[in-house]
Amino acid sequence: MEEQISLLIIYTGGTIGMIKDPQTGSLRPFNFDGVYDQIPELKRFHYQLEFYCFEPLIDSSDMQPAHWVELAEIIEKNYETFDGFVVLHGSDTMAYTASALSFMLENLNKPVVFTGSQLPLGVLRTDGRENFITAIELAAASEDNTPLIPEVCIYFENQLMRANRTMKYNAENFNAFVSPNYPVLADVGVYLKYNRHHILKPNFKKLRVHKNMDNRVAILKLFPGISKEVVESILGIPGLQAVILETFGSGNAPTESWFLEILEKYTEKGLYIINVSQCAAGTVEQGKYDTSLKLMEIGIISGRDMTTEAALTKIMYLLGENLSPGKFRAIMNLSLRGEITVH
Ligand code: ASP
Repeated sequence: MEEQISLLIIYTGGTIGMIKDPQTGSLRPFNFDGVYDQIPELKRFHYQLEFYCFEPLIDSSDMQPAHWVELAEIIEKNYETFDGFVVLHGSDTMAYTASALSFMLENLNKPVVFTGSQLPLGVLRTDGRENFITAIELAAASEDNTPLIPEVCIYFENQLMRANRTMKYNAENFNAFVSPNYPVLADVGVYLKYNRHHILKPNFKKLRVHKNMDNRVAILKLFPGISKEVVESILGIPGLQAVILETFGSGNAPTESWFLEILEKYTEKGLYIINVSQCAAGTVEQGKYDTSLKLMEIGIISGRDMTTEAALTKIMYLLGENLSPGKFRAIMNLSLRGEITVH
């Protein structure tokens, strides 16, 4: 007889788990003990579903690296017991948490599917019901006793995406997430269509959980008219280890000498500066234009086609590993969890 598939559902907070308080009419998180009353369809799954709720529940705007660690530890503790994990999370910072988890969970060989919703489960027109039910189905999918999606991903409104390729791009449409630089892992319609050759392969090695996320990082978004004081005050933050420089187009920045001199000064002091484009789609190509050639010469690291969310969490993870500068720079150029396109 086939063994029953077991999934751990981790509820962290966010809109999905809300219902309208009948007395006040305002939204409040519902008690997951009553989840089968809220979504009776869950009873029809032939999987063993267990629930873990964060205490307190967190609106995802309040998510911190410490919560990512909590999440990673829950998965680590339950890794052998369950076949897969579904994480219910607010959509606002879901791409950050899910990207972070992708780096923290090395040798992940089981699905970790994040989902949430734009409308609460307790609202008639909710998108949460479909997102939740399909996320369960995706996390349970396996072939020859091997999970079909052994990676951290986000399921939202018909699409399963690699977590560290996503960004929230719409605050009100049901399809709130995009994966601009990588194909979706599965399309969900009448059928669940897996894009198998885009899904990471399991390596069957032992899970290693990295918990040392170093937040001594900053993001500096360029804009026409940015002043010396702004650039200097960000790059000069005492103790700062890395800055994501959000550049224009394919990684371009002003060529004014004061700007380049500040970047050079702090790079020489050991600050890592990573070039990530403000454009959602496409890649940084340092050296394509004169306006990025200088950045390359100074030693700015190209973030290529990484999202800001992936770059930020990858940097936090690598800083926490205490690598030599040479190694840090080399690994920023490698794909660790499919977060960057390397040819
Ligand atoms: N503010 C909510 C959150 O991110 C929005 C959502 O769940 O979609 O927690």
